[in-house]
Amino acid sequence: MQIVFATHNQNKLKEIQALLPQHIKLISLKAIGCFEDIPETQNTIEGNAVQKAVYVKTNYGYDCFADDTGLEVETLNGEPGVYSARYAGAQRDANDNMDLLLQNLKDKDNRNAQFKTVIALQLHNKQYTYTGICKGKITTFKSGNQGFGYDPIFKPGGYEQTFAEMDLELKNKIGHRGKATKKLIEFLNKIS
Ligand code: IMP
Repeated sequence: MQIVFATHNQNKLKEIQALLPQHIKLISLKAIGCFEDIPETQNTIEGNAVQKAVYVKTNYGYDCFADDTGLEVETLNGEPGVYSARYAGAQRDANDNMDLLLQNLKDKDNRNAQFKTVIALQLHNKQYTYTGICKGKITTFKSGNQGFGYDPIFKPGGYEQTFAEMDLELKNKIGHRGKATKKLIEFLNKIS
């Protein structure tokens, strides 16, 4: 069985391939001749994940899965959510995004937030979605230099470190993307 993973990130592709049984072969976007940025114009995380998977199926004819992630902050009614990558502007700068979020949470006691990843799978003309959530709190200052995005200001529940102070193995175990990926892999292992 061959499935496209709709990401331009080769590391993500390799990581997931290593967790799948050998007869499920992941194909990169490059390998199918898809070099363009896939549109992500929906206003929900789920919507964007589905849009990307459907785009590949429609335009290239391959079964496919795609992921989308956002950080949802309780007191900001779920913002930045689907706009997490470009919260502080089109330059998509992680430091600018964190600075804006810290500014918007200045003087707020409620620091509750969650990361949410949705993986959408298009397989044999059916659509499936898998969600992974990691609940935690937004800190008052940046701490740590591992990871990416909002990691330096997110402390997962039950831990004293931010994601940016954790090794990747622990982040993957307790994190949003790891949880959604686990559900996808369990499904693919079961049906094959
Ligand atoms: P994407 O859908 O994986 O491209 O994620 C969208 C945006 O959410 C990224 O540009 C980051 O700003 C943020 N983000 C996604 N995953 C993480 C994470 O694991 N840690 C911190 N920020 C993340």
